[in-house]
Amino acid sequence: MNVYSLLDQAAIRHAQAGAVYCDETLVATFDELRHRSLQLASRFGRMGKPGDRVLVAAKNRPELVEIMFAIWAAGMVAVPVNAKLHPREIADVVEDSSPIVIMASTSIAQNLAPLAQRTPMIEIGSRDYTALFTGEASEPAEVAPEDVAWLFYTSGTTGRSKGAMLTHRNLMAMSVAHLADFDDVGHDSSLIHSAPMSHGSGLYMLPYIARGARQVVPGAGVFEPANFLRLCDVHPRVAAFLAPTMLQRVRIVCEAAGRVPANLHLIVYGGGPMYLSELRQSLATFGQAFAQLYGQGEAPMTITGLRRSDHATEDDAILGSVGWPRTGVEVKVVDRNGKALPAGTIGEIVCRGDVVMAGYWNNPEATAQALRGGWLHTGDLGSFDERGCLTLRDRSKDVIISGGTNIYPREVEEALLAHPDVAEVAVVGEADPEWGENVVAYVVPVPGKKLGADALDAHCLSSIARFKRPKSYRFLRELPKNSNGKVLKRALLSEAD
Ligand code: AMP
Repeated sequence: MNVYSLLDQAAIRHAQAGAVYCDETLVATFDELRHRSLQLASRFGRMGKPGDRVLVAAKNRPELVEIMFAIWAAGMVAVPVNAKLHPREIADVVEDSSPIVIMASTSIAQNLAPLAQRTPMIEIGSRDYTALFTGEASEPAEVAPEDVAWLFYTSGTTGRSKGAMLTHRNLMAMSVAHLADFDDVGHDSSLIHSAPMSHGSGLYMLPYIARGARQVVPGAGVFEPANFLRLCDVHPRVAAFLAPTMLQRVRIVCEAAGRVPANLHLIVYGGGPMYLSELRQSLATFGQAFAQLYGQGEAPMTITGLRRSDHATEDDAILGSVGWPRTGVEVKVVDRNGKALPAGTIGEIVCRGDVVMAGYWNNPEATAQALRGGWLHTGDLGSFDERGCLTLRDRSKDVIISGGTNIYPREVEEALLAHPDVAEVAVVGEADPEWGENVVAYVVPVPGKKLGADALDAHCLSSIARFKRPKSYRFLRELPKNSNGKVLKRALLSEAD
């Protein structure tokens, strides 16, 4: 079963219905989308063979829909990368995944020019791109459910990204769970891609394509709350995936306008902590228009969740939780030995089911570690209550989640340590009402050297993505450490209190 078949079946039922829109403008009907995807698939087929990777590096744009389905129709593996990554970080993903071609938007293509010497690159929207749609449409490739469809790169705690291998079965299980738990999608529904299509929003393309709904891509390619609300007036029965910080921005704009768009049907939030007060305010403004997901790249969008109806509660413990296991997913909280813990006891959250990745690309050790005993070890700590509702307690991996995006301290620490005048550094996340957490670096300069925030900021910009660099720097003579010499990050945080 190839996930491409979701488009094929929708095109049979809804051939003339609008499939892809850029803002309010129709870009392709389902029939056109299918034809263009198959034409592009035939070009990919001439460049390589099933199982080969195609890397996609672009801000959100309408072409991403045909590109993804073309990759699957060719039996190949999509490698979407976050457009905000630093060129060096994208180069790491290119090296790890060895794609046969890179599909990139203009600005990213320019930044990646050195890579083009080794890997062919096609600029999306260019004349070369248009020329790909002149030939014959190919027959979609046969694939097995366990064949990889999407390499989902998550930031690795060791600095290097790991590619979670998401199979056709995984993506199908995710789509079915979305339809079962969150949204009764119809051909009169729309999905607005406000969050990056390289991640959650792009994954949600599948259940909406399956039901013949519209894909709406904002023309700016970036998130603009006012435009999001405007598009909710234009398109029918709108759903969107928003990180908690995006939801907050939409709510503020909506409250200032004094009006809730009539067609706003569902906002799925998740990917990072949602503060209770924010959720309460959002419910007051938008009513019961929410579902919450708890998931990770390794079990895309689908571990536990709160359904729309779960939000109709006065119980803060439920609204502050990540809800119940999703359809088709088993979830346990376990101790260090993998033994299930009773309600009320905190342990590591593990899960299994058709949605769990096949493993990490080119990384059998990390795969064995993450999938030991047949369960995905999420690295998140949490506990169930007596009702079977799961609450996240902490993140065992120290990951900082700022604006719904994961930032791994070690990666930022490594970048800062590359500066010749930095002796020691510890990067931590400090609670922030707007962003969830902010990246803060505690820096010990090399004796006799003077360091300023501006110099370190410029240094970070040369090697890591903008969004990962610290928002503030604090300079210390030494870092607090335990008797083994391990930095006590908690002590830094309590000093900041
Ligand atoms: P990623 O693989 O980048 O999607 O990040 C996944 C991580 O984000 C999870 O392991 C959690 O730590 C965190 N996360 C995801 N969903 C939620 C949620 N609903 N509430 C709190 N944290 C979440």
